[in-house]
Amino acid sequence: MLRRTKIVATLGPASSDAKVLEQMISAGVDVVRMNFSHGSPQDHMARADKVRAAAIAVGRTVGILADLQGPKIRVRKFKNDKIILNKGDMFILDAAWDGLGNQERVGLDYKELPNDVSKGSVLLLNDGMLEFDVAEVRGTEVHCRVVRGGVLSNNKGINRKGGGLTAPALTDKDKEDIKTAALIKADFLAVSFPRSADDMHLARELMHEAGGKSLLVAKIERAEAIPVLGEIIDASDAIMVARGDLSVEVGDAAVPGLQKRMIKMARARNKLVITATQMMESMISNPIPTRAEVSDVANAVLDGTDAVMLSAETAVGDYPVETIQAMARICVQAEKEKEDSSTDHRLSHSKFNRVDQSIAMSALYAASHFKVKAIVALTQSGSTALWMSRVNAGVPIFALTPVEATLTKVTLFSGVHPIVFKSSSKDPSATLLEAEEKLVQSGLVEDGDLMVMTVGEAIGKSGHTNTLKIVRVGDHKK
Ligand code: PEP
Repeated sequence: MLRRTKIVATLGPASSDAKVLEQMISAGVDVVRMNFSHGSPQDHMARADKVRAAAIAVGRTVGILADLQGPKIRVRKFKNDKIILNKGDMFILDAAWDGLGNQERVGLDYKELPNDVSKGSVLLLNDGMLEFDVAEVRGTEVHCRVVRGGVLSNNKGINRKGGGLTAPALTDKDKEDIKTAALIKADFLAVSFPRSADDMHLARELMHEAGGKSLLVAKIERAEAIPVLGEIIDASDAIMVARGDLSVEVGDAAVPGLQKRMIKMARARNKLVITATQMMESMISNPIPTRAEVSDVANAVLDGTDAVMLSAETAVGDYPVETIQAMARICVQAEKEKEDSSTDHRLSHSKFNRVDQSIAMSALYAASHFKVKAIVALTQSGSTALWMSRVNAGVPIFALTPVEATLTKVTLFSGVHPIVFKSSSKDPSATLLEAEEKLVQSGLVEDGDLMVMTVGEAIGKSGHTNTLKIVRVGDHKK
């Protein structure tokens, strides 16, 4: 059974070796995530080359997601790398402190913190492990009372409960990194900590100025993003349910519900969605996942996510390949449990403005209600495949295209499988026959199977899909 849900794997020291990378891709990685918080532009270029070489070596198509660092809302370094704070201790976060931190105070990367908080604000450090109550702000010093203590070490992140930190989403470093993402032809660009649709519009403008065509992913990880979710989704091509920071800002218990809401909203708007963070966390150091992790991945699949993401598990974990194998296995099993795939989703009350979208949705409708083996979209830009993938018709969608950038882009679309295909003819009927032949040769369909196929009469032109044909494989030979 072909897996519908896509796997995004973060690269790092554990996945730098070419052989490990090949094994990970063979095991099912669809998109690699390059974390731009680490490494130089040269490192990113070398890494992208390595990924593409590994994908060719194992004969799979892999997309590249460049993830911008975003604002660094962090403490600076300590003299002894870390301190231990106990409940009731007083501690100062000091924006003007240039020295190394000690038991009394530490410097800040984020200089605006004293302006963004006041007495009574709650600060969460190190992914919420530590909790501080702001007792007083004195100039550049934020005086805090420790509510939940623990180890505070170098460069740990700071969140404000409920949001409200004013740091802009795109830093000067991010603006430079967008140029690198364009240069390496990243398929996806993730913007960290967007607060509004405007942050996404700015990222798109900068990406276009840099000559890039990456699809934009809004990482939903700030409390402020929730009330304007619809606008942010509309301004993006995809969202990431970034459960790490989001959980700290809105409280962990709110996140599962938000995950479901975000996935629903993204799909209804024809946008993509990635569910991220701690999905297989225990596999950083264990060869098998916990029962809870298995359920978490399966539930994200049942929620309808396009992709599930791995972070430290594949970046620094001991079992990167085993983690991908386990995740793939869980996704396939969960997909079998998916409720009735035939649907009336939007079809009863939506209006389509485009011919190609109407054809895509008609194909989906036919496939949902008529037992076919596959949907086949002959596509230039991938748009028809995207529309088809917004509803699970219960059959694979094969996106056949000669365009390299489209092949790597559809790697994130749930249920869509990229296939290189260049027609030797300008005639739509001959092109459909060639496509059928290609699928038979690839072992994806066989004589007697029914397929819903879509194509544009103007072969090779983007946005011109205007034809739907239901074909029984092999019938043309009779
Ligand atoms: C998250 O916070 O869940 C997330 C994906 O962001 P990052 O890993 O970049 O902190």
